[in-house]
Amino acid sequence: MKLHVLGCAGGIGGRERFTTCLRVDSDILLDAGTGAMNLPVDELSAIDHVFLTHAHLDHVAGLALLVDAVRGRKGYPLVVHATEPVVRLLKESLFNWRLWPDFSEIPSAENPVMTWQVMAHGETVDVNGRSITCLPVTHTEGSSAYLLRHNIEGFLFTGDMCSTPELWRTVSASPGISKVIVDCSFPNAEASLADLSRHFCPASLLRDVVSLPLSTELLIYHLKPGQEEAIMQELRNASQGRSVRALACDEVFEF
Ligand SMILES: [Zn+2]
Ligand SMILES: [Zn+2]
Repeated sequence: MKLHVLGCAGGIGGRERFTTCLRVDSDILLDAGTGAMNLPVDELSAIDHVFLTHAHLDHVAGLALLVDAVRGRKGYPLVVHATEPVVRLLKESLFNWRLWPDFSEIPSAENPVMTWQVMAHGETVDVNGRSITCLPVTHTEGSSAYLLRHNIEGFLFTGDMCSTPELWRTVSASPGISKVIVDCSFPNAEASLADLSRHFCPASLLRDVVSLPLSTELLIYHLKPGQEEAIMQELRNASQGRSVRALACDEVFEF
């Protein structure tokens, strides 16, 4: 299983900052922020499944444009997986014919460009040997993390989140998870803003993950533009032997 980071920044700004989009092999996206716009049209057409952590624009902006770009190029619908509150919000607020067309009815409801697949927290979907488990996180209503595995090896992608102790207990009890891609958006000086917007700062993240084995590598994403180095320095200073580093756009991992 190959993981390609198409976008992992907490905001836009220049060629090195694209918002959240991770590609698994050639056919799965985890979130579809502006990072999805890095793919040429033939590679966009190869995407068969998108798993959304939540409906914030920095995670779905690329989805709106992706379905338009691949219209007429696939003989079957792109499947978008998310929890019921997230699907409902996107149908009501984005794919509503006002802000953007409803591509689940284009060109027809019988043969659409995209289709929704509601996923419950705790549910696992198998996509040709890659197992994808949806787990609850605290951020917006219905927000999810995804645990991905091929055979026994895999990783956790938290999406945006703040304190969710049960997530770390679940991951600690899951063999083969060597890497955790986790939100840390703000420096400690903005801890109150992190709490208000339901993100982590270094102090709240390191407090939350105490039950996670030290051998599990933390790959930090969603760093706010211009504050990347300050946040990472605070994390390194307080990491107490835990492996912590920033995830970078265009990185590739094999599991
Ligand atoms: Zn968010
Ligand atoms: Zn976000």
